[in-house]
Parts: sequence; structure tokens; C-alpha cells
Amino acid sequence: MATQPKASHFVNGAYLEDTAGAVIEVIYPGTGTVIATLHEATPAVIEAALASARAAQKDWAALRPVERGRILNRAAAIIRERLHDLSVLETYDTGKPLQETLAADWPSGADALEYFAGLAPTVTGETMPLGRDFVYTIREALGVCVGIGAWNYPSQIACWKSAPALAMGNAMVFKPSEVTPLGALQLAEIFIEAGMPAGIFNVVQGRGAVGGALVTDPRVDKVSLTGSVSTGARVYAAAAAGMKHVTMELGGKSPLIVFDDASLEDAVGAAMLANFYSSGQICSNGTRVFVQKGIKERFLTRLAERTATIKMGDPLDMETQFGPLVSALHHEKVMGYMGVAKAEGARLICGGEAVGQFVEPTVFADVTDAMTLAREEVFGPVMAVLDFETEDEVVARANATQFGLAAGVFTADLTRAHRVIGALEAGTCWINAYNLTPVEAPFGGVKASGVGRENSRAAIEHYSQVKSVYVGLGPVDAPY
Ligand code: NDP
Repeated sequence: MATQPKASHFVNGAYLEDTAGAVIEVIYPGTGTVIATLHEATPAVIEAALASARAAQKDWAALRPVERGRILNRAAAIIRERLHDLSVLETYDTGKPLQETLAADWPSGADALEYFAGLAPTVTGETMPLGRDFVYTIREALGVCVGIGAWNYPSQIACWKSAPALAMGNAMVFKPSEVTPLGALQLAEIFIEAGMPAGIFNVVQGRGAVGGALVTDPRVDKVSLTGSVSTGARVYAAAAAGMKHVTMELGGKSPLIVFDDASLEDAVGAAMLANFYSSGQICSNGTRVFVQKGIKERFLTRLAERTATIKMGDPLDMETQFGPLVSALHHEKVMGYMGVAKAEGARLICGGEAVGQFVEPTVFADVTDAMTLAREEVFGPVMAVLDFETEDEVVARANATQFGLAAGVFTADLTRAHRVIGALEAGTCWINAYNLTPVEAPFGGVKASGVGRENSRAAIEHYSQVKSVYVGLGPVDAPY
């Protein structure tokens, strides 16, 4: 498959190149081979992208929502027709198994386009009667939105951000992570093919400095970032200086709590999905698995047995269930955490070794709250199992973190399940399930894990603002 795009950027409806920008080599994590060479956006490319978005946005917002929705639906249909090739490219970009990218990445992006295509025409204002006079409200587009993506779900993130933004009549300039720059260019091409006007969705490549230039530009009305807490804090501060709207989807260290009355097989399966899917490179992962003492040994035994069956290998082989980490740099970071966990006294149950750029699915037991593994986001296939005895204890320990992205509870006692979820400080929660993120459900974090929500009706509010209009029907009552 051809992995080299026609040019690095997509601006005003067409590919655009400027070889003066620093080189970005795109590496297939499965083999370490360079599969594309791109250039970072220069100031001229950034200027062209912002100017075209600004110029196109008002006419786009003036279309009927149903017309914008029709274009988004066409784009979703094209994605579904080309799902296989797009998923292969996603696997080249990320190293994630084709089995996963076919099922999760572009399909959930297409879901988002369809969902917001249907939702946009239903967004209405309110009327407030005031006797003779009245007030009505209109939900209007914000203008130009900047989207900045992480490397773990590059195409899904591009769709999750653009779908609500464009459905509401905004234009977007999107900067993918320089580690995974290919999918967003495909999306830009597909939008044009689906009939979207030029300039409504632009892609510029680059590292943090390009993102920084976008965030501080006065023509930008909103910034939506998916990334780490430290980047989020910087970008949020830069956006605040220009009084811009923000959505921040950041990291986590989420608790997955297994009570001893839970279905053992379901809890083990969920803990594996919550730590090993995408080789653990998922923000909402349940990386602190709290297991009640009565079930602990049986849980660890089944976990080790089932983890041993995971098929690691060539990401393009449909039998492969587990791929390499996204980059050599990230691999080094994850292996560093592995060393710290061992040094701090966590008990290694299985895994723990590197195999090339792969890291074996790894389980540590007897992890305590003070250990680095229980406090910091590893973003790799490293599960920490912690013991607990009582409900009050586990809730307090689960909440004792700066993060608040997600949480899960496994128990047969539904009263307890709802009580515990009610007490957990997390934005996205599951009961007897984990990491399912349908577009119908709001997704996002509390505390340091972010602000705003993606997906669902809630996302509409983050890509629009309310204008309120007072209509006077009588004489003006002036006291002078
Ligand atoms: P980073 O925070 O390193 O980067 C995120 C994006 O921000 C990248 O495109 C990056 O560019 C860009 N960036 C970096 N510095 C700046 C800056 N000063 N101004 C503007 N943009 C900047 O995250 P990763 O890409 O390493 O992704 C992993 C992180 O993302 C994890 O913490 C994970 O939890 C989180 N994440 C959160 C999700 C959520 O929905 N809550 C989902 C997925 C991941 P570049 O990489 O080119 O430097």
C-alpha cells in the first residue's frame, strides 16, 4: 500500500507542501521502517490554513444544518466503503493490530460523523415570554476551531473533534501528533469528496510549536486538545490568554474495582481489555485494578492464564491481537516504568520483558498506593493489581489521585455498584463493563483529566454558543 501522502498538509481543499519545514519521518512501529516523509508546517502554511478556515466558515454556518449533515453522512459512507484500506493505513501509522483498527478506529470515527449529522438539525433555541415582550435564543457556531490530536487514536480523534465542530457550522484546523500524521489527511480528502467546501477542514503537520502557533492566533475561537496533562495545562493557559473556548481530553490513572461477588471471567476479561487493548495506549484505561481480598488469588490465576494466550505479532496479520508500542521513545519510557515497578517491590505475575519494540502484556500484583506504578500514567501494557478489603476504603483510595478520567466497578450487587459509582470522582464510568465509548455517551474527565465532553449531545455545547435576543414590542420606556 502507498503510505506516502501527496503532500504534508491539506489546506483550502487541496494538498499543500512547503519543504522548508523540518522533516518528519513516519515510522511503521511493526518493523521500524520509514513509510513516509513529511514536513512541519511553516508560518506560511499555518497562515494559509487559518486564512482559508476564516474565509470559508461564515458561508458554511449559513447552510441549513441538514445540508451540513448530508455532507458529513456522505463522508461516513465513504469511510465505511474504504474501511479496509483506511484501517491498514491506520495500522501502519500506529502499529496497532489490523484486527483492532478495523473494529475500533475509523468505525467509531464514522459513527461520530453520522451521529452529529443527525443531531445538528435538532439543535434549537428557546423562547422566554415576558408578557408583551419576549426573548429568544440562537445556538451559533464559535468560528474557527483548532483540533490537536494524540497519537493513540489519530483518525478517531480527528473525527470525534471535527464531527461536532463542523456539524455546528465551525471550520477546523487540525494538527495530528507528528508521530501519526497520516489518517487526518485521509479524512480531509474524504470531506472534499463528500462535497464539503474548501477551507472547512484543514490539516497542518508539526510538533508542539506548530500547535502553539495555532492556539495563540487571534483568529482562533476554540481549542480542543487530546494529550497529556502537562501539555493540556500549557495549551489551556495559552487559550485562556486569548479568552478562547477549550475542550481538554487528558490522561488518567483510572480505578477498576472488582468486588469478590463479581463474575470472575467478566472481571478478568475487562481488566485485560482495560490494560492490553492497543498495547495499553488508551487514556481511559483501568490501570489501577483494585481486587477485593476474597477473590484476589483466583483473579490473579485466571488473569495469568488468559494473558498467556494473547497473540503478539505482525500487526497486519489478522490473527494478531497485540502490537508494538507506537515509537522507540515511548517504548523506552514504558520499560523505564517497568524497572521502577520491580525496584519498588511490585510482584511480577507475568510479562515484564521487551521484545523489540513490543512490551509483553504485564501484570504486577501487591502494588501499593505509594508506588510510582499506582500514581503515574504509563500508557503501556502494564497492569497494576492492588488489594482492598472494604467499600469505603477502596472508594477513598480510588479517589486519591489528581486524575479523574474514568472508573469501573464489577459486582453482582447493583445497589453497591451505583453507590460506588456515585462516590467515585471520574467523568466516564462503567458498571460490569469497561472502555466502551459509544458516540451516544458523553466522554471526558474531571479534575486534572480535563474539561468539556466529547461525543453525545453534550459536545454540541462545546462547539457553539448562545446568543440571546430581546424583542421589544412596545414603546421604549426611557426615564429621561
Ligand atoms: P502530548 O501531550 O505529548 O501531545 C498531544 C498533542 O499536543 C500533540 O499533537 C503534540 O504535538 C501537541 N503539543 C505538544 N505541545 C504543545 C503546545 N505547547 N501547544 C500546542 N500543542 C502542543 O500527548 P501524546 O501525543 O503523547 O498522547 C498521549 C497522552 O494523551 C496521554 O497522556 C493520554 O492519556 C492522552 N490521551 C487522552 C485522551 C482523552 O480523550 N482523554 C485520549 C488519548 C490520549 P507533538 O506530539 O507533535 O509534540
